Amino acid sequence: MNHYRKRILVTGGAGFLGSHLCERLLAEGHDVLCVDNFYTGTKENIRHLINHPCFELMRHDVTFPLYVEMDDIYNLACPASPIHYQFDPVQTTKTSVHGAINILGLAKRVKAKVLQASTSEVYGDPKVHPQTEDYWGHVNPLGVRACYDEGKRCAETLFFDYHRQHQLKIKVARIFNTYGPRMHPNDGRVVSNFILQALRGNPITVFGDGSQTRSFCYVDDMVDGLIRMMNSPDELTGPVNLGNPAEFTILELAQRILQLVDSKSTIIYRQLPQDDPTQRQPDITLANEKLQWAPKVALEEGLLKTIEYFKAFS
Ligand code: NAD
Ligand code: UDP
Ligand code: UDP
Repeated sequence: MNHYRKRILVTGGAGFLGSHLCERLLAEGHDVLCVDNFYTGTKENIRHLINHPCFELMRHDVTFPLYVEMDDIYNLACPASPIHYQFDPVQTTKTSVHGAINILGLAKRVKAKVLQASTSEVYGDPKVHPQTEDYWGHVNPLGVRACYDEGKRCAETLFFDYHRQHQLKIKVARIFNTYGPRMHPNDGRVVSNFILQALRGNPITVFGDGSQTRSFCYVDDMVDGLIRMMNSPDELTGPVNLGNPAEFTILELAQRILQLVDSKSTIIYRQLPQDDPTQRQPDITLANEKLQWAPKVALEEGLLKTIEYFKAFS
C-alpha cells in the first residue's frame, strides 16, 4: 500500500489490463488519469470509473506529445493481440516507439517514475526454456509479428537509454499471456476465442496441432505484479518477468475450456500463423525474490471468472 496519494497516469487505461489497473489504483486512493485513443480499448471498460471523483479520462494518441503533471506513469498503450497489432503494423511500431519517446520525455520533464508494459514477445520464438530475463531472445525482425516484438524491444532500449543518459527512474515489466474479464471479444486471442466458441457451440479453432504452449496469468495477479514493480526500490529497473509459470499446450487449454463450459463444441484444426512461438513459460524467480510476487489464481478459477464475463457476449 502507498502511504500518500499520487497522481498516476495510465496510458492505454481503457484497454483490458489498463482498466483493471485504473480500478486498483483508484481503490488505493490515488488520482488516476487514463489516456487512451480507443484504438482497441473502449469506454465500456471504464464506464464504472467515469463518475469516480479521482478519475479522469483523456482521449489522446501517445504518438503525439502529452503535457501533464504526474508522479507515476504506467505506459500500457499498444494493441496487444496479433489481429489488432497486425491490422496497422506501422501504427503499432509508432505507438511503441514514438509513444515511448513522448512518455519518457514527459517523465523526464516532470521527474516521474515510469513503468513500461513490455512483453514476453521480446523473447520471440525462444531457444531458452523457461525464459529468464537475461535471455536476449529469438525474434524474426522481418516477420508479421515484428511490428509488435521489435517495437517493444526498441521501447525497452529507449527506457534503458533514458535511465542511463537522463537518470530516469524506470521499471520494465515483461508481461506474459494474461487473461480475464474485459478481454476484447473479437481480438482473436486464444482464451477469448475458445471461451466464446465453447459458449456458442461453435467449433474450437486450434491453430497447428495444438502442441505449442503458453502460460496464462489471471489479470488480478498481473495488476498486483505491476503495482509491486512500480513501488519497488529505485535500483530495481528490471526487466522483470511477470506471468504464471503453469504451462499448458493449446490443445489442453481447449479441452479444459470445453469441460468448464460443459460444451458440445468440436475441435477443428487450422493453419498455424507465421512465427507463432512454439513454447512460452516465464521464469519468475526474480519477481519472487525482488517483489515477493507470485500468481495466486489457478487456471481453472480464472477461466471460470472469465467464462462468466463472456456469457453476456455469447
Ligand atoms: P488492449 O488492446 O486491451 O489495451 C491497449 C490499450 O492501448 C487500448 O485501450 C488501446 O486503445 C490503447 N492504445 C493503443 N494505441 C494507442 C495509442 N497510440 N495512443 C493511446 N492509446 C493507445 O491490450 P492489453 O492486453 O490490455 O495490453 C496492455 C499492455 O500490456 C500493452 O502494452 C501490451 O503490449 C502489454 N501486454 C499485454 C499482454 C496480455 O496478455 N494481455 C501480454 C504482454 C504485454
Ligand atoms: N514530451 C512530451 N511531454 C513532455 C515533455 C516532452 O510529450 O512533457 C515529448 C517531446 O515532444 C519530445 C519527446 O517527449 O518529442 C522527448 O522529449 P525529450 O526531452 O527527451 O527530447 P527533446 O524534446 O529534447 O527532443
Ligand atoms: N490460437 C489458437 N486458436 C485461436 C487463437 C489462438 O490455437 O483461435 C493459438 C495461437 O496460434 C498461439 C496461442 O494460441 O499459439 C496463443 O495465441 P494468442 O494470440 O492468444 O497469444 P500469443 O500468440 O500472442 O501468445
